[in-house]
Amino acid sequence: MPAIVPVAGIVMHGPSHSSLRLMPRLLPVAALLGALLFSACEANQPMPDDADMVVDSVAADASTLLDKYTTFRLEADLSTLSESEREMIPLLVEASQVMDSIFWHQAYGGQDTLLAAVTDPDLRQFIHINYGPWDRLADNQPFVEGVGPKPLGANYYPADMTKAEFEAAAAENEALESLYTMVRRDDAGALTAIPYHEYFADRMRRASDLLAQAAELAEEPGLKEYLTLRSEALVTSDYLESDMAWMDMKDNTIDVVIGPIETYEDRLFGYKAAAESYILIKDKAWSQRLDRYAALLPGLQEGLPVPPAYKQETPGRDSDLGAYDAIYYAGDCNAGSKTIAINLPNDERVQLEKGTRRLQLKNAMRAKFDEILVPIAGELIAEEQRGDITFDAFFGNTMFHEVAHGLGIKNLVSGEGTVREALRDHASAIEEGKADVLGLYMVTELIDQGEWDGDLDAHYATFLASIFRSIRFGTASAHGRANLIRFNFFKEQGAFTRDEATGTYRVNPDQMQAAVDALSEKILTLQGDGDYEAVQAFVDQYQRMDPQLQADLDRLEAAGIPVDIVFEQGPSVLSL
Ligand code: ZN
Repeated sequence: MPAIVPVAGIVMHGPSHSSLRLMPRLLPVAALLGALLFSACEANQPMPDDADMVVDSVAADASTLLDKYTTFRLEADLSTLSESEREMIPLLVEASQVMDSIFWHQAYGGQDTLLAAVTDPDLRQFIHINYGPWDRLADNQPFVEGVGPKPLGANYYPADMTKAEFEAAAAENEALESLYTMVRRDDAGALTAIPYHEYFADRMRRASDLLAQAAELAEEPGLKEYLTLRSEALVTSDYLESDMAWMDMKDNTIDVVIGPIETYEDRLFGYKAAAESYILIKDKAWSQRLDRYAALLPGLQEGLPVPPAYKQETPGRDSDLGAYDAIYYAGDCNAGSKTIAINLPNDERVQLEKGTRRLQLKNAMRAKFDEILVPIAGELIAEEQRGDITFDAFFGNTMFHEVAHGLGIKNLVSGEGTVREALRDHASAIEEGKADVLGLYMVTELIDQGEWDGDLDAHYATFLASIFRSIRFGTASAHGRANLIRFNFFKEQGAFTRDEATGTYRVNPDQMQAAVDALSEKILTLQGDGDYEAVQAFVDQYQRMDPQLQADLDRLEAAGIPVDIVFEQGPSVLSL
């Protein structure tokens, strides 16, 4: 069970979600809901008809839904921590829980009302896992009856806002496009941008205080500096300096990635950053082994299979790779499928000056390999290639995925803006697709150069099994979309074949290598050109689920193979 604890003493902004519909047999709840929903509604939110509201808590078979997840205890060896480092952990956990409550509001406005209306404990747990009534592993289908489709813009924008209205308003007010603002209507009904540190003022101040207290306890100067600056960033919505300081941290054992960070939750435009937090313990021995790959980035960039204009940027040399055990996940990263590797910061200014840090979350990765990937291979990978499914290859593929985010370019070849701005809602899936395929390109190159002691067949077979694993995240996930696109592209290129008799897939190594190069070139070109229409056409062509693939994925479900993990986490698990 995920340890999601409501944060006491923090004033919620009013729930603004307004797509719940009334089911006659839940009238008493409806009355309660009505009162709760409307008492604290934000100004100028359109109010749905009362007769149109509610939650039916008996709709879904929640115990079946919960089978998608298997539970994993987030433990780590804390014996290397000093006494004051141990004292920091409860403060960081509490700050993380604040991020959790902010993310709840960003994803869905009415957490308290929704949970108040649901009594089935399985359903409540499933709502917590999803941070709302939409199943993140099933393309955000509602699993609470009467709940409408999830708004593409989650709760970042007014529910009645159109894309055209936003674009017209944003042309006059660029704060609307900021990573760190909520978009609401003012008294006149016009769109207005409210910075997170004002919209979530109480919560941001609380988290800021907790980080400041943790900074007092920090012994390592880099960590102390980062926590101090991050504490300030939460109450100013200016994250640049703290991102720079995070890049400068080298000798810390504890790490915390906290704040509004990724933009996947905003599927309308991909502008808005979602609150999250990871608390991490560095594995210094593993980290040293990983360190040397960052030094190889410039050479790998030069070798990318695209014309020079598409690889003209120099990847940061100050990048580092680290292995960590995670001890706490909160907010965005804890919603639905769990991240096993982090590549940050996202700010292109920091990336160009300092590169990025790539954090491999070993314990979470091992859980997914053992509990999910190996069973998937047992069903879907040709028997004679199953021996090629190895943790080393899985770890390597994931590690090089993260490294590969640093390859390619951040700015358009035309010089007119960033790739991310140009590709908007497709930016995340295309970037994830790039990292996957360039990661495999890197493995191939590094094995050739004798820099990586891996077996290419193992990397390929494990990569193929991972595609099935990730497609199961659904097209609501940038990773799910990227993998579905790649599956169809690779299929077209003959990178694998399906054996009708056994219903299993076999890698064709030569075609696989050619497909990796072809897809790398395609994606790097789409990014460098920043041609939104061309990207849309590419997505339309390849992001499709054919009946055969669906039937094969259904076999995984029938075999009871979980899709993802939920964490038992927090001070009690860590015996602090
Ligand atoms: Zn990635």
